[in-house]
Amino acid sequence: MIPEPVRSCDAPPAAVGNRLIVDDLQFTLKRSLRRRTLQITVERSGELVLSSPPDVEESRLEAFVLEKRFWIYTKLAEKEQLRRCVPSKEYVDGEGFLYLGRSYRLRLVDGQCVPVKLLHGRFLLRRDWVAEGRNHLIQWYSNRAKEWLWNKAQEYLTRMEVKPAGIKVQDLGYRWGSCGKGDWLYFHWKTILLPAHIAEYVVVHELAHLHQPHHTPEFWQRVERAMPDFERRKIWWCLTLT
Ligand SMILES: [Zn+2]
Repeated sequence: MIPEPVRSCDAPPAAVGNRLIVDDLQFTLKRSLRRRTLQITVERSGELVLSSPPDVEESRLEAFVLEKRFWIYTKLAEKEQLRRCVPSKEYVDGEGFLYLGRSYRLRLVDGQCVPVKLLHGRFLLRRDWVAEGRNHLIQWYSNRAKEWLWNKAQEYLTRMEVKPAGIKVQDLGYRWGSCGKGDWLYFHWKTILLPAHIAEYVVVHELAHLHQPHHTPEFWQRVERAMPDFERRKIWWCLTLT
């Protein structure tokens, strides 16, 4: 069961000075004579900024925020997830590391031919490579991500009528995935830390971009046709924020 997101109260929006509060979302309000349209931006820090022409009424601002609320939660969740996925690690025995949504304990070992292995529910890291532990783990995640995401994509190619050139896994900063020139798909290596059904949604999302670069209604229809329960996955993903 997925709990309903809690609306804190039904209070009207409160615009105090340059702040606008709608339920649990707080915006810095920037009114400018040069602006013609409303726009929301999510800063790297997670701060929300609402830019508006000077004379737009509060009720219109609130309606706009509510309309975009899902997108805002998604953006916030992305930033939060990416920040939290790999907190600074010490690479000591017993420390937990995520893989496809589950946490596996680390064990330092001697005399293993590769730096990192996942074996019988444990991450095994060579003791003499601990100083480079982070790089070795990232390398392991990247290799695993490439294989897993590519296999997952194969299940959707016919259905979605797409032919990606291939996939590349790297550090994409604050994005899970993107669609590049020549129909190459890019994924953040951290995608492989997400629960499998959420990582699968990230794959379908990027595949749909091969048809449609922007998040238009047609884009979402394509996602829905390929993955009818995508909303549930997206919502689940957003709820991991709290
Ligand atoms: Zn997208």
